Amino acid sequence: MKCAMCKRGETKPGVTSVLLTRGDFTLVMREVPAEICEICGEDYIDGKIAKDLYHLAERMQNQGTLLDVRKYQYQNDPVCGAEG
Ligand SMILES: [Zn+2]
Repeated sequence: MKCAMCKRGETKPGVTSVLLTRGDFTLVMREVPAEICEICGEDYIDGKIAKDLYHLAERMQNQGTLLDVRKYQYQNDPVCGAEG
């Protein structure tokens, strides 16, 4: 697709790192699948994956974690709802 940031580049499938913060908690997720602009490097993450990351961060925050860095692995089973 056409990049919305620079409006010149085309995006290509690749991976990116995502930084998520929720209150005191920081999650760095590496190797998240995304569409990356070949010119400006803007990354576009699939809505389903973004939601997955959000729920993962929420769950980790509930466990009292303050900082976590991990490699993304797509979960077929939704992370949310498993623990109420
Ligand atoms: Zn771009």
